[in-house]
Amino acid sequence: MQPKKIPVRRCSGCGESKPKKELVRVVRNAAGEISLDPIGKKPGRGAYLCPSPACLAKARKAKRLERSFGCAVPDEVYAQLEEQLKEETPDV
Ligand SMILES: [Zn+2]
Repeated sequence: MQPKKIPVRRCSGCGESKPKKELVRVVRNAAGEISLDPIGKKPGRGAYLCPSPACLAKARKAKRLERSFGCAVPDEVYAQLEEQLKEETPDV
């Protein structure tokens, strides 16, 4: 038997691979709406980020979310994500 594998995803900001549960999922649904997916169950294309506004800023600068989703990400969406990330991480 192999040891249990922890699912790992790469952060779109810093590029580090981390256990999935330590990252937040950002999802783009069929309607093109982009939102945070704290539960990880929303349908659509997903990208992962550390729960940190700094990583969101890096992903934004490198346009990694645009690349993951294949579409433009408006400023207000980044603002929303940032707000939600702050709620997710009360210690920041
Ligand atoms: Zn990161």
